[in-house]
Amino acid sequence: MKLHVRKDDQVIVLTGKDQGKKGKIVSAQPEKGRVVVEGVNIVSRHRKATPTMSQGGIIKQEAPIHSSNVMVICPSCKKPTRTAHKEMTDGKFARACKKCGEHIDK
Ligand SMILES: [Zn+2]
Repeated sequence: MKLHVRKDDQVIVLTGKDQGKKGKIVSAQPEKGRVVVEGVNIVSRHRKATPTMSQGGIIKQEAPIHSSNVMVICPSCKKPTRTAHKEMTDGKFARACKKCGEHIDK
């Protein structure tokens, strides 16, 4: 599955408990159609204390969310946008903002 977003994109969350939150994609899982967004969908994992690690406790960690629940924020006009494919000066196609027409990929 090909994602419309990739690592290091700035995105906004469209649904769920973190709706409206913005963050950077820290990792993308195209095979699952999922992305991990910085500060979004934080889950608590409980960890038991072990003899080597006396500190048990709760670890907060981002869980992946489905890529369809995020939208790219255009680096040029700073608005959430759908992406278009647009030819660059070198003839290759790259993602572009549907609102302002600027390329999203550098
Ligand atoms: Zn734009």
